[in-house]
Amino acid sequence: MVKKRLLIVLTFAFIVSCSKTEKAIGTEKEVTMDKISKTEEEWKGELPADVYYIMREKGTERPFTGKYYKNKEKGIYVCAACGNELFSSDAKFESGTGWPSFYEAIEKGKIEIKPDSTGGMIRMEVLCARCGGHLGHVFDDGPPPTGKRFCINSKALDFKKE
Ligand code: FE
Repeated sequence: MVKKRLLIVLTFAFIVSCSKTEKAIGTEKEVTMDKISKTEEEWKGELPADVYYIMREKGTERPFTGKYYKNKEKGIYVCAACGNELFSSDAKFESGTGWPSFYEAIEKGKIEIKPDSTGGMIRMEVLCARCGGHLGHVFDDGPPPTGKRFCINSKALDFKKE
């Protein structure tokens, strides 16, 4: 009896988590990107080890160490793995966190957002919609007009100066 009840609870939890995933991706995705699909071996051969660690193994660079958290120049931030345009300097703001922070992506379809439960907390992971590379996380404590804070690793970005 107890086992049966537990099974029902687990089934319910699974359905809820699945529907959340679909909703999160569905609302964020507006443009369909041409996907780049490479094996982990190929990525490992192409990306510098520190970039591979962030983008393919979902690592996080130490705060206040990245090359872009203080960057105030005008331009476009692109994916370090595939060159996909991700964020405009116009949406960059000083969050005080030590990571480059943006209140929106350049276009919603350029990124994907997925629930991430690693590290003992539920966070929303931000990925490049073209290559699937890990970029960082998005939080709901950002400034107007969106209230979002895209907290992105410098190592997942390249900067194209205007
Ligand atoms: Fe990419």
